Amino acid sequence: MAEDIEKVKCLIIGSGPAGYTAAIYAARANMEPVLYQGSQPGGQLTTTNEVENFPGYPEGVTGPEMMLQLQAQAERFETDVRNGWVTKVDFSGDIHKVWVNDTKEIHADTVIISTGASAKYLGLESEQKYLKLGGGVSACAVCDGFFYRNQEVVIVGAGDSACEEAHYLSKLCKKVTMLVRRDEFRASKIMEARVRNTENIEILFNTETDEVLGDGQVVNGVRVFNNKTNEKHDIPATGFFVAIGHKPNTDIFKDYLDLDETGYIINVPGTSKTNVEGVFVSGDAADHVYRQAVTAAGTGCMAALDAERYLAAKDSTFEVSTSTYN
Ligand code: NDP
Repeated sequence: MAEDIEKVKCLIIGSGPAGYTAAIYAARANMEPVLYQGSQPGGQLTTTNEVENFPGYPEGVTGPEMMLQLQAQAERFETDVRNGWVTKVDFSGDIHKVWVNDTKEIHADTVIISTGASAKYLGLESEQKYLKLGGGVSACAVCDGFFYRNQEVVIVGAGDSACEEAHYLSKLCKKVTMLVRRDEFRASKIMEARVRNTENIEILFNTETDEVLGDGQVVNGVRVFNNKTNEKHDIPATGFFVAIGHKPNTDIFKDYLDLDETGYIINVPGTSKTNVEGVFVSGDAADHVYRQAVTAAGTGCMAALDAERYLAAKDSTFEVSTSTYN
């Protein structure tokens, strides 16, 4: 049976850097935000060992630790952080309706979507094992490439992301082996040319991953097979990068919000506004280009400021706080 309907000024969906930053700004602007953490509290960063590129951490910080700090900062200003999974929305009317765990119904004046995106993986048992161990499997070369300096790595994928990441890795690593499952790239010609012209990138066409090899703790190689000849061979590598695309976590919004063909929410350029008034988006749910913690945090700030201005325009008793602009 449905519980009583709760009314909130600002509902934030998602608990990565975008969601927590939106919460910090919204809370300081007296919007009394309620934040639902979703199924992976802390978001994608909780699968990253070491974050060294977020300003303010000269010695680096682990992903989970950084997310706990962002949560504590949001709670310091009395954000109501809750466990729960938003299962359904109805953005058809003036009131934005949101259901949590299929039961609890919330009516929100403003909604900030920070549901992020999930990297796709191959799904091999050995890949998942070393991913969970933090032992050499990664879906983010910019985040983790640094740890493989002067080492040999393998990267899977043939799109623009894979080319960009292979090129990035080639500047750090001794050798990058790129596994392309067809006999051609999907990437744009210019990106393809860049990897083809890089001396320490070896491209293996018609090649797929059979197994990620390791000593039980860390990766030490990749067994691959040629899908034309079925021949297998092992490639020595300490890092296994997967760059086969991302899936934005936006399925529940598709009946109401404009999405691009991959499912990313389309925002009004230069703002966090969506096609529905009072519904804003921040972080990777709308960003397939940058996908960094710091850019997600930046757009979280934008979403809270846009939501605050929307509330102020709608309700003359709600004052835009000056504190948010400090
Ligand atoms: P894409 O969907 O474009 O490419 C995914 C790649 O992964 C394809 O080559 C695909 O192979 C391969 N792949 C998928 N599943 C598997 C699998 N199970 N095993 C092996 N290979 C697999 O994703 P991207 O993330 O590369 O790009 C997403 C969008 O972002 C694109 O529109 C891209 O242009 C854009 N982008 C632009 C950039 C830029 O302009 N600087 C940088 C990064 C992204 P196959 O080709 O055989 O299907």
